[in-house]
Amino acid sequence: MQGEVSALENIFSKVDRNEDLTREDALVLLKIENRSDDFYRLLSKANELSQKEYGNKGYVFAQIGLNSAPCPGNCKFCSMGCENFMVEEETEKSMEEVVEEAGRALAQNIDALFLMTTADYDIEKYIEISRQVKKIMPPDVMLIANIGDFDLKTAKKLKETGFTGIYHIVRLNEGIDTALDPAQRIQTLDAIRDAGLELIYCVEPIGPEHTYEQIAEEMFRAREYHVDIMACMKRVGVEGTPLFDRGEITDLELTKIVAAARLVTRPKKSMNVHEPKQMALLAGVNQLYAEIGINPRDCAVETGNNRGFSIAAVKDMLRQVGYTTK
Ligand code: SF4
Repeated sequence: MQGEVSALENIFSKVDRNEDLTREDALVLLKIENRSDDFYRLLSKANELSQKEYGNKGYVFAQIGLNSAPCPGNCKFCSMGCENFMVEEETEKSMEEVVEEAGRALAQNIDALFLMTTADYDIEKYIEISRQVKKIMPPDVMLIANIGDFDLKTAKKLKETGFTGIYHIVRLNEGIDTALDPAQRIQTLDAIRDAGLELIYCVEPIGPEHTYEQIAEEMFRAREYHVDIMACMKRVGVEGTPLFDRGEITDLELTKIVAAARLVTRPKKSMNVHEPKQMALLAGVNQLYAEIGINPRDCAVETGNNRGFSIAAVKDMLRQVGYTTK
């Protein structure tokens, strides 16, 4: 017991000295028992760090899903995987619809707008739609792409279009629970970095079967790419998808993981949890996502009317714990 306390104190001292935590440190944090005294000390340390580095600044990001279609990524947790497509219908928003929805989101004062598609969405069409969206965006709102893999040439094109950053990740069990190649995911991360785009990263989708070593690995990947907008997301069990039976981790477990990620990754701008969880806002989280259109955790084509949180709802969640939003 005494030894464990000392290990935690030692890790917190390193955080105070702005020293990078090691993999062993990350595992000590992740192995803390939920609801133990150390659990609350970890949450408190993550919260202290965010208060010190972010002040009361809370961020609201909004994501628009452009299409729902059987996706060759075939992720075994996703409602749009090509072998398990279970969204109520295949849809594709027109350019006008996307611009209109973006306009509605922007009118509610968001900090970033994400445009998400399935992995094989036509890149030229995506760039054209994004160009129109960019025209109506205030300069202080980030435009972020969430699409399939691409090379450096496309990364540069996305930058020219006005994207400030890209959401891209190596998923937990990528290549095992997905039809995507982890090496190609990493090539895309490199292309994002080399094009000078901001990488937005997330440890996801966390399920009960993932080891703490795997989870820590993705935190270190984020640190390797100097990620300043970081997140952790738990897998939501969509009934009918192959991974549904594996179940979900609890909100408590997710809160511990996000607190550990806050200390290990040290993102300079914001820390997010997905889906929005009030309790994680006590653990250093200062950013939440609202969602519009389709999302991989929902079978409704308009998640804003179903599983997704509205912009007003996430703003309220942040304000309830003392964060200010635009
Ligand atoms: S999570 Fe993304 S890449 Fe995977 S199947 Fe769903 S839409 Fe495709």
